[in-house]
Amino acid sequence: MQRRIRTRFAPSPTGPLHMGGVRTALYAWLFAKKNAGDFLLRIEDTDQNRFVPGAEQYIIDALHWCGITIDEGVSVGGTHTPYRQSERKEIYRSYAMQLVESGNAYYAFDTAHQLEQQRKNAEEKKETFSYGSATRMKLNNSLALSVDEVKELLSKNVAYAIRLKIPENETITFTDLIRGVVSFDSNLVDDKVLLKSDGMPTYHLAHIVDDYLMEITHAIRGEEWLPSAPAHILIYRYLGLTAQMPHYAHLPLLLKPDGKGKLSKRDGDRLGFPVFPLEWKDPSTGEVSSGYRESGYYPEAFVNMLAMLGWNPGTAQEIFNMNELIAAFSLDHVHKAGARFDLEKTKWYNTQWMLRQPNEAIAKRIKPMVATRTGISADDVRLSDNYLTACVALLKPRVQFEKEMPEKGIYLFKAPSEYDQTVISKKWKTEFISFFKMLSDEFMTLQDWSSQLAEQTFKTTAEKNNIKPGEVLQLFRVFVSGQAQGVDLFPMIQLLGKDEVIKRLETALKFV
Ligand code: GLU
Repeated sequence: MQRRIRTRFAPSPTGPLHMGGVRTALYAWLFAKKNAGDFLLRIEDTDQNRFVPGAEQYIIDALHWCGITIDEGVSVGGTHTPYRQSERKEIYRSYAMQLVESGNAYYAFDTAHQLEQQRKNAEEKKETFSYGSATRMKLNNSLALSVDEVKELLSKNVAYAIRLKIPENETITFTDLIRGVVSFDSNLVDDKVLLKSDGMPTYHLAHIVDDYLMEITHAIRGEEWLPSAPAHILIYRYLGLTAQMPHYAHLPLLLKPDGKGKLSKRDGDRLGFPVFPLEWKDPSTGEVSSGYRESGYYPEAFVNMLAMLGWNPGTAQEIFNMNELIAAFSLDHVHKAGARFDLEKTKWYNTQWMLRQPNEAIAKRIKPMVATRTGISADDVRLSDNYLTACVALLKPRVQFEKEMPEKGIYLFKAPSEYDQTVISKKWKTEFISFFKMLSDEFMTLQDWSSQLAEQTFKTTAEKNNIKPGEVLQLFRVFVSGQAQGVDLFPMIQLLGKDEVIKRLETALKFV
């Protein structure tokens, strides 16, 4: 019988969710949706030392902003509660004990100090200490100690961890959905802690117990877990759960723009772009890290960019909305190699998504920014939906972010107070004064006002003055807008209106 497809996103609430984490969630979600399955959110908070207040809510808010819906889990509930590992503490111990009883795990009484000593000793010999088949018989655990010694330690309630006993000289093999068949030499795998001395499970044990109990069919996670995968395969085997083991898929890393190393939490603001979906204020230091949302990105653009960072649809299509992503997504088009973050491409996605936004919607959003920037009153026609929508249509091809519009298009809202000096000193000739005066008069006589009429009038007036229109065109722009470049000239002239254009021309002529 085919099992219902169930994937999960299982972040640890140790801070804001990195964009790499969002991508993991996105791929797991797309895979579930593509297969008419469920997507779960499980919070892996067993490491109490690294718990950060607010991080869980941040994760939920970030997924929500991206449009990644949760079918089951923290924030929505479901039939496999609780979904926070700290609330499942009691469940894990019995699985750890089952492994001890079957001889596949053991008690390790080593103190933190003893382990530190082992590490130091190894370092002195230029080696790295590993708790495993090569060293465990010389350490303080129930494999090396006698039965009586172990009994005594346990009866005295001496603190212990439970470790997995990795077999010697075995090749551990499994099929990764992205990498294909992968094999590991068991001698290179350490005896992972399953249960810590505080009674909390580690990730290794907890995620397996939970994936099993929550009926997860596909565990899609970051590449950093690949080296631990052989231990996970063994745990399933020793618990007799191999048949229920989910398929593992290890996603490629997100790399820094130069391709050198993993894109880390610290990179973003250092390299001039956000690495977090939403802005984050560190609760202990107050330090603020920028977010894509606050930087003016659309969630559609952010998600589209992330989807393409490590996956390709197998066609040339680059722009995908969520439904298109669901339809196109498959794990066999996820790349094995790391994906390099590209800021320019990310902005490009935003521009593409801006072009797809209705002008009316952008107009509504920029209205408060225009009002603040210009100080024009709420009932002014320049703040009307119609006027703003027309401005948006003109400005759209000139910006990457809608929030640039009020500043980039400032002359659509306010007459210039300065004029581009480079253009004036390069192009201005005193004899042009009669042309511009005549132009202003000709505009005045026009009954109708349109970009075509204004342009036609501009040309004929130039001819009458024996001037090539090209000689005075940029000056005209500068007189009206103050700037050397900007939105399409005559459509701008139409939008500003006849009176405003004449007024601006006259002011400018006084100035030159
Ligand atoms: N808590 C783990 C992490 O944040 C989850 C890895 C997984 O998806 O299994 O990396």
